[in-house]
Amino acid sequence: MNIEQMWEKHSGYLKQMLTALTRDLDLADDLLQETYLRARMGFTDYRGEGDKTWLTAIAKNVFLAHLKRKYSHPESPLDLDRQPIEDMLPGSTSHIDHITLREAVSDLTPPLRTALVMRHFGGFSYQEIAQQLSCPRGTAQRRVWEAVRKLRTMLGAEPASSMQCRKLMGTALLDYVYKVTRPEQAAKVEAHLAECPACRQTIVELRATARTLDTVAVDFKSVYVYELDNSGGMIGAETYRSSNMTIDENGNVTFRGHHSMPITCITVNGEDVDFYAEETEPQNRIMTYTARPTRPVRPGEPVDLSFIFNSDSPKKTDAYLKNLLDPANSDEMRARLLNDPFTQQLSEKLGGYDALVDIMIRECGGLERIMAPLPEGVMRYNFSHWTPYDEPGVVTASIRLPDEKSLVDVHPKPDEIRRNRTLLWRRMVTLTEPLIFLVDYRISPKR
Ligand SMILES: [Zn+2]
Repeated sequence: MNIEQMWEKHSGYLKQMLTALTRDLDLADDLLQETYLRARMGFTDYRGEGDKTWLTAIAKNVFLAHLKRKYSHPESPLDLDRQPIEDMLPGSTSHIDHITLREAVSDLTPPLRTALVMRHFGGFSYQEIAQQLSCPRGTAQRRVWEAVRKLRTMLGAEPASSMQCRKLMGTALLDYVYKVTRPEQAAKVEAHLAECPACRQTIVELRATARTLDTVAVDFKSVYVYELDNSGGMIGAETYRSSNMTIDENGNVTFRGHHSMPITCITVNGEDVDFYAEETEPQNRIMTYTARPTRPVRPGEPVDLSFIFNSDSPKKTDAYLKNLLDPANSDEMRARLLNDPFTQQLSEKLGGYDALVDIMIRECGGLERIMAPLPEGVMRYNFSHWTPYDEPGVVTASIRLPDEKSLVDVHPKPDEIRRNRTLLWRRMVTLTEPLIFLVDYRISPKR
């Protein structure tokens, strides 16, 4: 077999794996390209150990090299506590008890918690945080700092050492840790750090806290990536971080999925893993997936889970909402939906099923928007995300439209459109304000 044949056979899988690892379609494409180049260059060294294994190893190395580039900052000589790359991968263990930290985060007052979650887990700007919290930008900044400081105290750490330093505000140091300082400000911070041991110590402590937060059981962060293809099909990647995963006695992760979205690739804590599927609820067309990471997972441990699924048709959307609103079948529809544990949980939290439906209608842009018939040849993709907990969560979603497309309508407006075809949303999602969007698009006939 030559490299081209090998590539033809496995590039689809490699792309899915890289998408699951990076959660970014454009980046996955770039890394896939790099994998191809490396595979071609190294093909003479290939010893026939199994083509898929060999290519997978190359793709993983490309991904690790990307992480190294992203996380190393050789321009910063004061990066005293730079961690080996392994520690930055999701799932690395931390000396602080995750549950303790999680409780500490929950104990913060809601404005502090929201500010911290938005800054740390969502990468939102202070301006965006200020908008969400309806406060001035400076207040948003202080709240993030205050949240970090409180967290450190609750966890029994010494108060930040820069308290002994009169010259620098803590927020400037925090911004420096989060790499959101403007260049001239960063230069000032670095000059000060060079002569102030107290602030140097603070930086080390802030970084330690930030790293610990990275590993905390948050259920705060989920990333969704969907690529719609020219024939109306779709590849979707969904990533969650959760400490509420079901773990079996062997330390395997299990979760449910629907028949119509067969999963082709699963990663657990950054590792692509073996898995199997069983049809556990045939009446609801539900499968249970069991993923087997190399290192067994302990119950309660935060798990970073991604999976890729393929679908032949775009999610046929709000059809179920329409059905639900049709008096002829709404009882049956309700019964079926309420059979789903997640819907059940949501409806209980929100004070009843009607409240759930009301929110869906509102977030979809109103009943008229949902009921309006789609123009001929237009497809609709619909997506909704809820947080089942009272905690706010950060959701990032991107949809990449097919090559031969035109966007007909999208609700709500994306926060960003990248490379003219990737629509991006980044939102704080709460129980009562889910992220639900509708994307209508038309595929041009093949020329
Ligand atoms: Zn100082």
